[in-house]
Amino acid sequence: DTDAVIDVRIGALGEHGALLLADDLTRAVRVEETRRDFVANVSHELKTPVGAITLLAETMEDAAEDPDAVRRFAERMQTETRRLSHLVQEIIELSRVQGSSSLPDAKPVEIDDVIADAVSLNRNLALGSSIELATGARSGLRVFGSASMLTTALSNLISNAIAYSDPKTRVGVSVRREGGMLELSVKDEGIGITKEHLERVFERFFRVDRARSRTTGGSGLGLAIVKHIATDHGGEVTAWSMPGQGSTFTLHLPEMGNTETITVPASRSG
Ligand code: ADP
Repeated sequence: DTDAVIDVRIGALGEHGALLLADDLTRAVRVEETRRDFVANVSHELKTPVGAITLLAETMEDAAEDPDAVRRFAERMQTETRRLSHLVQEIIELSRVQGSSSLPDAKPVEIDDVIADAVSLNRNLALGSSIELATGARSGLRVFGSASMLTTALSNLISNAIAYSDPKTRVGVSVRREGGMLELSVKDEGIGITKEHLERVFERFFRVDRARSRTTGGSGLGLAIVKHIATDHGGEVTAWSMPGQGSTFTLHLPEMGNTETITVPASRSG
């Protein structure tokens, strides 16, 4: 009968095979749960700004006779719209990095160029908060990967460092080699993160302080995007923090061997 057949099959697979099957099943269920959670989170996160904009538009209509009030409501609508557009942009970015396991435009990338681009993307943000954005000397180091994705990852780390720091502090971007890996760090002197929260900051939609994050326009997706990009490059991202002292986020990426640039010394003549 069927029971016997199943018994025999499990027997043939052995204990190890049966375990593997069970494990695959749990993983499939987990992937499906994660996907469902993500959709639920996205809907929730989108509804908040859309609701606020709707309400503001209605209130504005009622206040049509009062130009000052109209101006105030219009300003708040612009803030909410910016937030919404930032959120949509990050959702698209995350789906993009989540969807592909390979790097579309992979090639040798000069890490100094990535730093320069990410820093220039955040120049105005730093200026606005009177934060000194400092970089070290050119390293000449390279990784094999996507320049645009690496710039996005580093830029997310820099914009966080600025957003969660007080004015007149310093944000430093540096790169060094460590055992075949390249360590790209962003160090701030900001509010820091407690140990309990630090374990969760790479989760999608996780924000330590929703109220504060809302004033800075945070979506809770930035670090999830960074983590994906690091993994896609065969690396990882780590975080160190001390509440009240600051945080350091580090991208660990495999350094590109420079075998192809080895120059053969010209033979001396004469
Ligand atoms: P957000 O868009 O809210 O910044 P992230 O995924 O980039 O989302 O970060 C998740 C949370 O981690 C943030 O809401 C913030 O609470 C915390 N965080 C990230 N970077 C820093 C930092 N440099 N200093 C302090 N807290 C940070």
